[in-house]
Amino acid sequence: MSKQHPHYDVIVIGAGPAGYVSAIRCAQLGLKTACIDNWSNNKRQSSLGGTYLNAGCVSSIALLESAKIYHLLNHEIGKHGIHVENISLDIGQMMQRKNKIIETLSAKIADIFAYHGITRIHAHAKLINARQVEITPLDHSAPSVIQSGNIILAAGSSSVDLPCAPVDNEFIIDSTAALNLDCVPKKMGIIGAGVIGLELASIWSRLGSEIILLEAQENFLPLTDQQISREAYRIYTQQGLDMRLGARVISTKKSHKKVTVEYQDNEGQHCLRVDKLIVASGRKPNTENLATAETNLVLDENSFIHVDENCRTTLPGVYAIGDLTLLGPMLAHKGIEEGVFVAEQIAGIHTPINYDILPSVIYTEPEIAWVGQTEQALRAIGENIKIGTFPLTASTRSHVKGSPDGLVKIIAHADTDTILGVHIIGAHASELIAEAVLAMEFSASSEDLARTIHAHPTISESLHEAALALDKRTLHLPAGRLIP
Ligand code: NAD
Repeated sequence: MSKQHPHYDVIVIGAGPAGYVSAIRCAQLGLKTACIDNWSNNKRQSSLGGTYLNAGCVSSIALLESAKIYHLLNHEIGKHGIHVENISLDIGQMMQRKNKIIETLSAKIADIFAYHGITRIHAHAKLINARQVEITPLDHSAPSVIQSGNIILAAGSSSVDLPCAPVDNEFIIDSTAALNLDCVPKKMGIIGAGVIGLELASIWSRLGSEIILLEAQENFLPLTDQQISREAYRIYTQQGLDMRLGARVISTKKSHKKVTVEYQDNEGQHCLRVDKLIVASGRKPNTENLATAETNLVLDENSFIHVDENCRTTLPGVYAIGDLTLLGPMLAHKGIEEGVFVAEQIAGIHTPINYDILPSVIYTEPEIAWVGQTEQALRAIGENIKIGTFPLTASTRSHVKGSPDGLVKIIAHADTDTILGVHIIGAHASELIAEAVLAMEFSASSEDLARTIHAHPTISESLHEAALALDKRTLHLPAGRLIP
């Protein structure tokens, strides 16, 4: 029998970026808030931050940072006339640094929760109706019920299982295990050359693994502007990644501490033998066990929660945000904005999200970032566009930094000059894209960017040069060489 517990204004289920931000904003707005999250760290303690902080993006960028330093010391530092000998790798220490970052950031969220008086519950939560949530402690002791006028579902997503490659987290591993390895595998296969597959490939190839990516689709990074994805393919291949497109994995077999992967492409069936195989074939919403059947929470055929444009589910007072819905892509900052949006709606403030101007970033080396529409999407609808590109080989600062790979591309409407999309591949693309996001939020024209003074020499002036290129007046590149 469930016992009854206190009443809250808002209950948030999940403490990933969408959930913890939503709880903080609710509390800021004076709402009595509880946040329930079931993540446990290796000490079996609660660790706020969800997959994003505990086993995803933050781990990935922390390890990439270490891998870049290792790669620099091994392959690039000599160009500076600096000679380093006896470089060695301590993966244990590298993982400890990453884990310390996670611990620190999670503790910071806990401090903010405490400051705002948010009730934090370490348990599994299940919606039992539009006003009540059942909480089951992780030691499986008796469940209890808490109530609220509003419930925000923010339970996130998890890796999709591939029946042909069952994860054992020893030889066939998921992305979480791939961010916690205790040694560098000699040869590693990755199923899926999507965002996660590529980010993991960037880390482990820099640490010395031979990487083979098997991607079922012929089209590489199909949602990215195709000029950028072609450039990415060229750069990654040049760096040594073995990317096999149109390669669908059909079976796997483990023997003698190795995995044999069978895959099919246009030329027939092939076998590949690797020390470890990472499955990075997509993510699914965590809706299993999130609500009882009696609640009648409506999901779509892929188990995403059905919501309207205000993140409202079919149950009154119940909202769903972040990776649980198909409103926008599975991105931490999309979840964060939805968390704020829903909290404010509950408090009576309505400030809708502009999903059209949402930046995307792939944290590889070099990074890829974009906002707005791609050239192929605009051409498909017959939009009258003009394009300016600026290769980083023409950027002074990129040369000085020793990372001149990449380009900036700006697409504007041919008649109005309004910026419709900005696409970047290159060092610091994740930071550079912020200028483009702001410009588009303010409905800037490419001429606005072209007339904005950028410091010289900086990498950010490549955006300025790409804007000038739209009108064939780029300054640091001969006019005939605009398209690399
Ligand atoms: P994804 O959908 O981006 O890529 C998975 C790839 O696996 C696809 O290209 C698919 O064709 C391929 N695939 C599936 N089955 C296969 C098979 N049998 N053989 C070969 N290839 C196969 O998914 P992901 O990389 O797992 O990422 C999941 C989500 O998480 C994405 O929405 C992504 O945007 C998000 N994410 C974002 C970031 C970021 O913002 N930097 C980081 C991590 C994840």
